[in-house]
Amino acid sequence: MKKPNFELHIPDGDEGEACYVPVQAPIADVELGDDRKPILLPEPPDELPGKGYRKGQIASWLYKKGAREWEEMTDLPRALREELPRKWRISEFALVQAFPSSDGSVKYLFTLHDGSRTEAVYLPYKDRKTVCISSQVGCPAGCTFCATGKMGFGRNLTGSEILDQILAVAYHQGLAPREIRNVVLMGMGEPLLNYENVAWAVRRMLNKNALAMSPRRITLSTVGIPRGIRRLAEDDLGVKLALSLHAPDDETRQKIIPTAHRYSIAEIMEAVREYFGHTKRRVTIEYTMLQGINDREEQARELARILKGLVAHVNLIPFNPWEGAPVSGSGKKRIQRFAAALEREGVPVTVRWSRGVDVGAACGQLALKNG
Ligand code: SAH
Ligand code: SF4
Repeated sequence: MKKPNFELHIPDGDEGEACYVPVQAPIADVELGDDRKPILLPEPPDELPGKGYRKGQIASWLYKKGAREWEEMTDLPRALREELPRKWRISEFALVQAFPSSDGSVKYLFTLHDGSRTEAVYLPYKDRKTVCISSQVGCPAGCTFCATGKMGFGRNLTGSEILDQILAVAYHQGLAPREIRNVVLMGMGEPLLNYENVAWAVRRMLNKNALAMSPRRITLSTVGIPRGIRRLAEDDLGVKLALSLHAPDDETRQKIIPTAHRYSIAEIMEAVREYFGHTKRRVTIEYTMLQGINDREEQARELARILKGLVAHVNLIPFNPWEGAPVSGSGKKRIQRFAAALEREGVPVTVRWSRGVDVGAACGQLALKNG
């Protein structure tokens, strides 16, 4: 693997979840040719087929034991086991390819039943196992520095497709679904532009009969859709919020983020403050360091000013290059100077070193290439 030319601090606290993987070589193509019928996962556990305790049994097979085939559910009556697959399918995905990295992270490329593709990333840390999931095929937001944005928009993922990324990754890792305790919505797509389906999937993650996750361990990263942020609060989902700000003023932001023409920083920050008021959870501010665009020290001071009074933590993300990108990343020195300027202003900051940059597996590089 190509060595980065500098070393940066990789956070191992609960900040700085990174959906980046160092991918080396793909393992052999895995063509499953899976054409199983449409599925069950859209249904909440209490709507599972069967009566009474049968529902509980099925939920337990799906979410606790990670069954991927009906035949595995050996304590169901044979007749039910035969009937279920006619109506329901368990998984949304066929695995196209897995890209393992030297540190245990793996990027998974899945095909959906309509032939669309999506990606999820398994990220093992010392103290936890995280999955980074996608919310859309491509992304309509079109941020200039993001390869997913460049791809354009395919379609929204359904709730079950969003959720099944966790189950499928657990399965391919040989883990029970509940061993995945952390999820970051930082893969392809803008989650708040697919609100209903994302909220559906998050509810399943939280549901005691399903994945029984803690909302503190689910991070939703957004480019900043004020209405969506407010709905998250209204719906009381309680997830951690990461805001992709990337610039301290509207003019700069509009150069790199088309949705910034629609929503001003002031409007977005108002919604973020409300969200903080509701959850009391520290907000993460993501800031990708782009050479000559947003990396001046005065911009760091400006950023500190707009974060005043908010309990926030800034993640500086070195730019992950991709072919044809119209921008380039700031060098190590500039990133450090920017971080130091923020620190002087009393803003907690972490530099998030992206791995897998050389093979296009890092955040913003996800664009469905096989390899
Ligand atoms: N759509 C959401 C979540 C997915 S992107 C969002 O924009 O927040 C996850 C993070 O990666 C965002 O902060 C995004 O701005 C950042 N990102 C996108 N492309 C990048 C690139 N090429 N290099 C570094 N970070 C990038
Ligand atoms: Fe979409 Fe996020 Fe990429 Fe922007 S950075 S194009 S919002 S995935």
